[in-house]
Amino acid sequence: MGKVLLIGAGGVGTVVAHKMAGLPDVFTEILLASRTKSKCDAIAAKIGNNRIQTAQVDADNVPELVALIKKFRPDIVVNVALPYQDLNIMDACLETGVAYLDTANYEPLDEAKYQYSWQWAYQDRFKEAGLTAILGCGFDPGVTSIYTAYAVKHHFDEIHYLDIVDCNGGDHGKAFATNFNPEINIREVTQKGKYWENNQWIETEPHEIHKPLNYPSIGAKESYVIYHEELESLVKNYPTLKRARFWMTFGQEYLTHLRVIQNIGMASIEPIMYEGKEIVPIQFLKAVLPNPGDLGDNYTGETSIGCRIKGVKDGIEKTYYVYNNCKHQDAFNETGTQGVSYTTGVPAMIGAMMYLKGIWKKPGVFNVEEFNPDPFMEQLNIHGLPWHELHNVDLEL
Ligand code: NDP
Repeated sequence: MGKVLLIGAGGVGTVVAHKMAGLPDVFTEILLASRTKSKCDAIAAKIGNNRIQTAQVDADNVPELVALIKKFRPDIVVNVALPYQDLNIMDACLETGVAYLDTANYEPLDEAKYQYSWQWAYQDRFKEAGLTAILGCGFDPGVTSIYTAYAVKHHFDEIHYLDIVDCNGGDHGKAFATNFNPEINIREVTQKGKYWENNQWIETEPHEIHKPLNYPSIGAKESYVIYHEELESLVKNYPTLKRARFWMTFGQEYLTHLRVIQNIGMASIEPIMYEGKEIVPIQFLKAVLPNPGDLGDNYTGETSIGCRIKGVKDGIEKTYYVYNNCKHQDAFNETGTQGVSYTTGVPAMIGAMMYLKGIWKKPGVFNVEEFNPDPFMEQLNIHGLPWHELHNVDLEL
């Protein structure tokens, strides 16, 4: 059906490559390119059958990207490198006339601040070029936004309260590790909290609002309101929302480590001089922390991510909870990576499939909730992320 250029050979890239390789009718040719080619080669060797071609690319360099795209001529570029590369890869897609998909919104390297404005600014250029850009097609953002679109389409006339709840009930056995790229993860969870209420953003201190929430098959976990990128597009696309929040669970050990890391300056993105060389503390920290892609081996427990929604159907108030639970061990047995990489990589593969099948294909830049959720939801059940629905239950929120 189509050719894919996959950029980024980390934990998420590993899962996307595995999943695409298993669907030769959809993904006829796959080129995995990243900064370090040996990592692409290792993934390709593990998958076998010559399903994955590999290449070296520096995605910070647009001419290099353009040359690679022109040589391979993919139908879509799937970006699972880092958010810093989003705009460069979008520029290269525009220059070569190829569709684009990512899982995380653009973030400038020198400012720990992510927002969609930079990528939404590409709307006219993608539209005029007749090209599709699909933004935020991981789990959150991604599946959480599609769950919301599905709820609006099938279960509500209007949604009023949305709480996205993200629990990692797993144990990787390490004193401290992050589940995806440490630099991006620490930047995300140490920033101020923010949620939407009564048509405005309310800012909180980091981790200021918290309470225990019960997660299916996991139980009660302390959950914290943090800012998460899908809130920005969801409140824009669903203006009936009176409140929208994102909750994530953190263990006390994790938060204590995080506080120490911040207090001693290791989370800083400001460059410092060390022995005559400029280094960025958080990048140095990344180099000494466990690689998230290697956490899978002894990772027990599961993740549970979903949307808890309150709204109105036929004039009657109702609640709805849609979620997926993913066991780290199952993810590891299938792809050699832990659940967080798995829950991100599977939706990225499905998004690319939606594009190649012509189901999610329209000119412009779109967040995933702007497409038909039904065929995507169907594929989640088939490819390892089954979802469950609860109606009129106590949402605890
Ligand atoms: P990793 O750090 O494990 O992998 C990132 C990969 O990108 C590495 O292989 C890295 O190369 C490569 N890379 C970095 N910079 C460049 C560059 N300039 N040119 C080419 N390749 C580059 O991260 P993850 O796999 O954990 O995460 C990947 C993406 O997924 C991130 O953007 C993250 O924010 C997003 N994500 C989204 C989630 C969601 O639910 N929506 C959840 C989790 C993650 P090298 O190996 O040389 O360092």
